Amino acid sequence: MDFQLSEEQKELRESVRRYASERLLPVAEEIERSGKPPAPDLVREFADMGYLGINIPQELGGQGLGNLEALLVLEELGRISSAVAFPVFESCVGPVRAIERFGNRALVETVVPAVCAGEKMIAIAMSEPAAGSALTDLKTSASMNGGKVTISGTKRWCSGGGHADGYLVYCTFNDEPGAKSIGAVYVEKDTDGLSFGRPEQLMGFRGVPSCDIYFDNVQVPELNVIVGAGGFKELMGAFDLERCGNATMALAQAAAALADVSAYVQERRQFGKPIVDFQAVQLKLAEMKMQVEASRLLIWRAAVDAEQGFPSISSSSIAKCFANEIARSVTGNALQLMGGYGYSKEFPVERRFRDAWGWGIAGGAIDIQKVNIASAMIGRRFNQRA
Ligand SMILES: Cc1cc2nc3c(=O)[nH]c(=O)nc-3n(C[C@H](O)[C@H](O)[C@H](O)COP(=O)(O)OP(=O)(O)OC[C@H]3O[C@@H](n4cnc5c(N)ncnc54)[C@H](O)[C@@H]3O)c2cc1C
Repeated sequence: MDFQLSEEQKELRESVRRYASERLLPVAEEIERSGKPPAPDLVREFADMGYLGINIPQELGGQGLGNLEALLVLEELGRISSAVAFPVFESCVGPVRAIERFGNRALVETVVPAVCAGEKMIAIAMSEPAAGSALTDLKTSASMNGGKVTISGTKRWCSGGGHADGYLVYCTFNDEPGAKSIGAVYVEKDTDGLSFGRPEQLMGFRGVPSCDIYFDNVQVPELNVIVGAGGFKELMGAFDLERCGNATMALAQAAAALADVSAYVQERRQFGKPIVDFQAVQLKLAEMKMQVEASRLLIWRAAVDAEQGFPSISSSSIAKCFANEIARSVTGNALQLMGGYGYSKEFPVERRFRDAWGWGIAGGAIDIQKVNIASAMIGRRFNQRA
């Protein structure tokens, strides 16, 4: 067992950290002010740097590196902001990975290289007004006829909704109950019958647009079916990697807040001395440091165990759940230690707190991860409906 990164991995992390701190801090501030996602030029710049799809095979336009390398890059960019890192999140651990793994070869060769080149962004549309944690209750239907698939229904909370160029849409293909009927279809933004609701105003995630998506008899070719009925297990396999990305984004908020507050408590003086000299402050810092380091190890374990494939539901749920919880607590403690300055929008810690909260809902709520963990531990699924 080796807890060290290789020299190449350390160099990669260092180079992304340097690039991010020299180039992206003002970009993050501007995104936070405007609420607009990263500009197309910046996304292409990420492509030129090799960050988009860094863990996708070279023949599809990626760098052919591993999931761990992707998560190293994601943490460094996520420390700048969730919105800045979001295109890298989508390209390395998002729905494009399910398309790459399970899609028809002709479709894969059109979509995946375009994502790696920064020309396309793909979002995931699973949740619906009445299907959140109970995802298998989804109602958006896909019916196949004459080489075409027709999709009807409404999706909610899609990150990238209205902005992304394509959507991996979870649908029910027949009347079988629950997961048995579920698969997913790839739909491009400008397809007839597809429309978008008003932009959501979320607590955090500024610069990651979100809205309802309406499918009114949307027709796409049958080769856009990524997995048909009965493919829910495959989709959830790919989603285990997305969970590690979610965990990394949460960790990034915590790690950045810890770095900021460590500097702050050494500068800020009260009662005639730096506030770091108070033992209560030292204890808080130590707790935050332990939480951040433990979280990173759980994420890396999930990624390394999976090698180039998808992590297990157990290790990815543990990594996500822990990262989601510690990110809320570390960013909250950092905010508190910065007093009025922590509560001010002049400093990024309040943004990190708001984003950290969101990562613990996105990709499956914290308690749902706990159900997954207990289920893997005990060795059987617990029926949430009975
Ligand atoms: C910032 C953000 C980004 C998102 N991005 C996307 C996206 O890109 N694509 C997409 O499809 N969706 C996305 N979502 C939606 C997200 O996946 C859902 O919000 C999430 O799965 C929870 O569903 P819900 O909001 O309907 O909450 P509900 O399912 O109503 O759950 C509410 C709460 O009830 C509790 N609960 C519910 N069921 C159980 C249970 N069985 N056991 C224990 N507790 C339970 C949990 O505490 C849970 O937090 C996003 C959400 C957010 C906040």
